[in-house]
Amino acid sequence: MAALIPVSTGEPERDTTHYVQAILRSLWLRGDDTALRWRGTSVSARGLHRDIGLATEGLRRLGVGPGTTVGVLTEANSPLALTARYAAHLLGATVVYVRSTNPGPQAPALPAADQAEILRETGADLLVVDPANARTGQAAANLLSPPVRLAGFGECGAGIPTLTAADVPADRPAPAHEPDLAVVTYTSGSTGRPKGIRQSFTGWNSTVLSAYPALRNAGKVTFLVVTPVSHAVGVILDIVLAAGGTVVLHERFEPGQTIRAIEAERITGTYMAVPQLYALLDHHALADTDVSSLRQLMYGGCPASPERLAQAVRFFGDALMQNYGTSEGGRITLLGPRDHHSPELLSTVGRPFPEVDLSVRDPETEQELPPGRTGEVWMKSPNMMSGYVGDPALTARTLRHGWLRTGDLGHLDAKGYLHLTGRLSDVIKSRATKIHPATVEKALASHEGVANAVVYGVRDSDELEHVHADVALRPGAGCTAEQLRRHVASVLTPLHVPARITFHAELPLAVSGKVDRRQLRSLAERSAAPDAD
Ligand code: AMP
Repeated sequence: MAALIPVSTGEPERDTTHYVQAILRSLWLRGDDTALRWRGTSVSARGLHRDIGLATEGLRRLGVGPGTTVGVLTEANSPLALTARYAAHLLGATVVYVRSTNPGPQAPALPAADQAEILRETGADLLVVDPANARTGQAAANLLSPPVRLAGFGECGAGIPTLTAADVPADRPAPAHEPDLAVVTYTSGSTGRPKGIRQSFTGWNSTVLSAYPALRNAGKVTFLVVTPVSHAVGVILDIVLAAGGTVVLHERFEPGQTIRAIEAERITGTYMAVPQLYALLDHHALADTDVSSLRQLMYGGCPASPERLAQAVRFFGDALMQNYGTSEGGRITLLGPRDHHSPELLSTVGRPFPEVDLSVRDPETEQELPPGRTGEVWMKSPNMMSGYVGDPALTARTLRHGWLRTGDLGHLDAKGYLHLTGRLSDVIKSRATKIHPATVEKALASHEGVANAVVYGVRDSDELEHVHADVALRPGAGCTAEQLRRHVASVLTPLHVPARITFHAELPLAVSGKVDRRQLRSLAERSAAPDAD
């Protein structure tokens, strides 16, 4: 998922060339005003300014500087996750968040072994932890040879230097180096293995610097975060902080809590995935809650049903903004608030953002196709990735002649609106996570009772995709769907668990001799909704 406010751009302060400097300046001027809220406590603007200064000095003393990479492992959406990134970026270092690879609101923490693999792959020089994650961080660091050094916010235990112990005058000018890469973002990946996406600092920096002046003139902004700050929403809250707004950080999405927060904290903007928008619409409290403070409700990440969007317009009026984007490409198109009032546009994902070039190409010949013809969506923008970590072959397949292939299929209409119609690969996007069928098939097949398994995605009437599995058991095996679900959850994650498992004596074969996936999928599409999700 990727999105950004505001859509219009403005001039950055003439002497500010580093986005963290813009944030620091705004924080300093705001004094005791609240910058962040998390777990019922507030961090004042001056307090956050001081914390960033202390962390910058602490990291500098530990050797962090241009060309280094800092791993960050904190509690979900903790203010420390931001402090660490700002400090590292001021010093010219690249950041890699290792807590989770899922960009969606349900982001289970990775096991230490996977975190260690990310640290190894990115060549991290230091891992920053908070007290709650010191032990896991230590376990991950020790899996590497030599172990990655640790540094802690606060007291994190023996042998872990405290980052914030340095005594720095609050108004000391911050360094402002610019790393080549802002972050390496890990996502669940379309090949099953988590993929590290290299995001340039220039793109991130110019996005914040060009967007915040317009937002600063748009009145008081209070932005609610319900998705991981390690992913797409990160750049949005940088814009909010640089513009003098307040960021309310929720650790995870819970519809009732979100609805209550919108009313109680007079939230003006938020960002969520399509299923979360549906969860708000389905919540009994929405009708009786005052959500009129919301001026921007950005959503996206997977297809949305036009009927549900028409329902959303009744509650959220002109706040709705749909974004189509990818982890690799950043934001691509926008269906703006006014578009939401034209029923015929609700099945589109809108038009490209100003900085994006879009091209629909024949997947075989790579030739550009005219409006109306369906092909693969290619895009180009300053925010697109510079490549995958450690996978030059995949990078070469995805980045072509300065363009990025999204793997999505669609067409442009005469008015320039993009209609998405499917994907080139059979990757499933369920609950904000990309799931490769082969990964789940392998997990199912590793259960002693399973002879064969086929997995694919099925869309329900709301356009949400669910993981379906067809399973043939070994002779005499008596395992149940529930046992297989528990098995998949333990081998992979709860997000990979099939919503529906259908048992067969034998799986049907196509003429090729392979299991007839297409037949099974069309049977599933015609039958009832998932039995669990
Ligand atoms: P991710 O890289 O996890 O953000 O997933 C990106 C993919 O999600 C895209 O390639 C699309 O298939 C899908 N996607 C994202 N936003 C939308 C949207 N607004 N409508 C339809 N599909 C979307």
